[in-house]
Amino acid sequence: MRLSLTDPLSAMAGVGPRTAAVLAGSGLSTVADLLWHLPSRWEDRACPLSLREVVAGDVVTVCGEVVDLRVRRARSRLTIVEAAVSDGESSLAVVWFNQPYLATSLRVGQRLWLHGPAGPGRGWGVELRSPEWEKERDDGEAVHHGRIVPVYRRIGEVSGRRLRSLMARILASLDRTFPDPLVGLLPGGATLSLSEALAETHFPTAPAGLDERRELLQQLARRTTPAQRRLAQQELLGLAVTLEQAREARRRQHAVACRVTDEIRARARAALPFRLTQAQRRVLREIVTDLQRTAPMARLLHGDVGSGKTVVAALATLVVAECGAQVAIMAPTELLAQQHHASFTRLLAPTPHRPALLVGGLPEGEKRKVREGLARGSIAVVVGTHALFQEATGFARLGLVVIDEQHRFGVAQRQRLVAKGDAPHLLVMTATPIPRSLALTLYGDLEMSVLDELPPGRSPVRTVVRDGRARDRVMEFVRREVAEGGQAYWVVPFIEDSETLSARAIASHAQEIQRGLAGVSVGVLHGRLPAEEREQVMAAFLAGEIEVLCATTVIEVGVDVPRASVMVIENAERFGLAQLHQLRGRVGRGSRASYCVLLLGEECGAQARERVARFASLTDGFAVAEEDFRQRGPGEFTGMRQWGRADLAVADLRIHLVELQWARSVAGQWARRGRLQQLAALLGGLGGRSVGPA
Ligand code: ADP
Ligand code: MG
Repeated sequence: MRLSLTDPLSAMAGVGPRTAAVLAGSGLSTVADLLWHLPSRWEDRACPLSLREVVAGDVVTVCGEVVDLRVRRARSRLTIVEAAVSDGESSLAVVWFNQPYLATSLRVGQRLWLHGPAGPGRGWGVELRSPEWEKERDDGEAVHHGRIVPVYRRIGEVSGRRLRSLMARILASLDRTFPDPLVGLLPGGATLSLSEALAETHFPTAPAGLDERRELLQQLARRTTPAQRRLAQQELLGLAVTLEQAREARRRQHAVACRVTDEIRARARAALPFRLTQAQRRVLREIVTDLQRTAPMARLLHGDVGSGKTVVAALATLVVAECGAQVAIMAPTELLAQQHHASFTRLLAPTPHRPALLVGGLPEGEKRKVREGLARGSIAVVVGTHALFQEATGFARLGLVVIDEQHRFGVAQRQRLVAKGDAPHLLVMTATPIPRSLALTLYGDLEMSVLDELPPGRSPVRTVVRDGRARDRVMEFVRREVAEGGQAYWVVPFIEDSETLSARAIASHAQEIQRGLAGVSVGVLHGRLPAEEREQVMAAFLAGEIEVLCATTVIEVGVDVPRASVMVIENAERFGLAQLHQLRGRVGRGSRASYCVLLLGEECGAQARERVARFASLTDGFAVAEEDFRQRGPGEFTGMRQWGRADLAVADLRIHLVELQWARSVAGQWARRGRLQQLAALLGGLGGRSVGPA
C-alpha cells in the first residue's frame, strides 16, 4: 500500500495502538505529522571499517559475522554477553553489559552491523563496548547502519531508535509521486517535492567519499541542504499564510470607529506638556488614521527606549475615550503598571478621564470596584497587569487595548485580552528593537510604526567598558555624580528567574557597595521582594531618597527616573546585548549627561570582552538588536518561546531569510488575489504544518 502524507498513523502497518496513542498524545496523528519530527542530528555510519582498522578510542561502524557468542554472569549479578565478529580477514571482540536478552537474539553465523565505541580489549587487541547492533537483512540492507543515520529526540516512550525504524518504514512506502502543487510556486525553478525533501532530510543520500560525507553532515547541521531549504520554505509559507489569514479575519471585524473632531484635537494639544517630535507626530497620525476605521487596528509601535511611546499611547487613549469607548493599558509588571498609571493620570489631567489602576496587589474590594466600573462603563481608562486578563474582568465597550513591552507577553495572552472586546483596536508597544527579519515573522500580522527619533535635549548615554579592577574608581565616580545631584543604578550579576537568585546574596552585595559609598543612600531592589516593598523602594528612588539603587534586571523594563544618570552593570558579559541596551535605556532620560559603565568579571574571556566592547560602540537600539540576533539567534529574544517559534522544525530565521521573503511574497500575492483559502488548502493537502501565532 502506498502511503500519503495525510494518512493517519494508526492505519499504518507496524504502528501498534500503543505507539499510535503515544504519538497522538504528542499531537502527531498523520504521516506528515510524524515526518515533521525531524532528526536532531545525523551520524555517518555509511561505510563500515574493516575490522583490523578499528582503533581503541574511536567510535566506529563495522560489519561482520558472529563467530562466537557466550554469556557470563559476574558476581554482582551482572550479565555480560561476549561475542566475536569476523569480516573474513580479522575478528573483533564485542561485549554488552546487562543485556541478557542478547544471548537469545543473536546467533552464531548471523551478519551484524555494529556501531559504538572501541576500547582496549581485556584479553587482546581492542573490543567494542555495548555497541548498537542490527542484523543485516537478507537483501544486505540495514536501517540503522550503512548510511547517514538520523538521530531523533524520543517522543514519550517511543525511543529514538524506534522512531528511526518508523521513519524508514514510512518513507519506504510513501508515495513520492504524491502531487505537490507547491512545486510550481518554488523560486528559481526548484522542483523538489515535499515528500522528496522529507525523505532526503531524514535519510540523506550518502556520497561515496568520506570528505563529501563530512561536508554533507556540516550542511545538515547548518540546515542548508536543498531538502532542508525546501522544508523551511514549506514551514515559512505555512506561517505566512496563517499571518495573512489573521490579517484578513481582522479586516472583517468591526471595531469602534472613532471620529476625531477639532475639539478632541484641542484637548489633546492642551494635554501635552511638550512639543511632539516629528516621529511622534507621524506615528500618531498613523494610529489615528487606523482608529477612525471600523476594521480594528493592529499596530506595533516600535521605539527605542526613551523615544517617547507613552505620550503617543496616551494621546491614542484620549481619542478613544473621547469617542465614548474604553481603553485598557497593559504593562508587564506591577511596578511599570503603577508608573504608567501615574504618567497617564498626569497626561490626562486636563481631560475628564481619570485612569483606574488594576493590579494583583490591590485589596480585593478595590479590584472589585474597578471591575464593576469597567463592566458598567463608568471607567473609561484602566491601566493594569495580568490581573486584567482574569475572567472576572469584563468591559462595557472596549475600544482600544494598549500593550506595553510586548516581548513579555505571549500571543495567547494578547488574544485573550482582545477577545474581551468585540474587536478592539490594538496597539502593541515594544522597546526591544527587533531585527526586521524577526519582526516580520513574529508580528507579521501587525502594521508597523517606528519612533526613530529621541526627544530633543538628550545626549546619548556615554558607554564605557571597565575591568573589574576599576571598581573602586567607578565607585568614586558614582559618589561624585550623586554629590552633583545625579542618581545611579548598580546592576548586580544575579539573574532574575534563576535559582541562584537569593535575597541574602544580593543584600550582602549591596552592603559591600554601601561600604564603598559611605554617606550615600543605597537601596536594594530585586524580584524576590514582595511587590509592595518593591514599589516602596522604587518610589523612594524616584523621590531621590535612595541615591544608588542596587538592583537586578527587574529594573530593565520601563521605569522612568529622570535624575538617574549612571548605570553600572557588573559582570556585563553575562548579559545579552539587547538586555544591556534595555538597562542602559534606564538612564539618559533627563537632561543630565549620562553614563553606562560596563564592568567585566574576572573570568571574562577575550571573546566576551569584544562582544561587550562592540555593544559599547553602538547607540542605536536597532543596531544592537541586529548584532544580538546575528550573534545569538532569535532564541535569545525574551519571550521567543512564548511566541511559539520553537515550533519551527527546521526554519531558522537567521539562515532562511530568502525562504522567508519568498513565503511572505507568495502568501501576500495569493491574499491580494483573494485566494488565501486556496493556498491554505494546498498546504493542508500536504498535511500542512500549522505554525502560526497560536
Ligand atoms: P519610552 O518610549 O521608553 O516608553 P517614555 O514614553 O517613557 O519613553 O518617554 C521618555 C521620557 O521622554 C519621558 O520622561 C517623557 O516625558 C519624555 N518625552 C517624551 N516625548 C517627549 C517630547 N516630545 N519632548 C520632550 N520630552 C519627551
Ligand atoms: Mg515605556
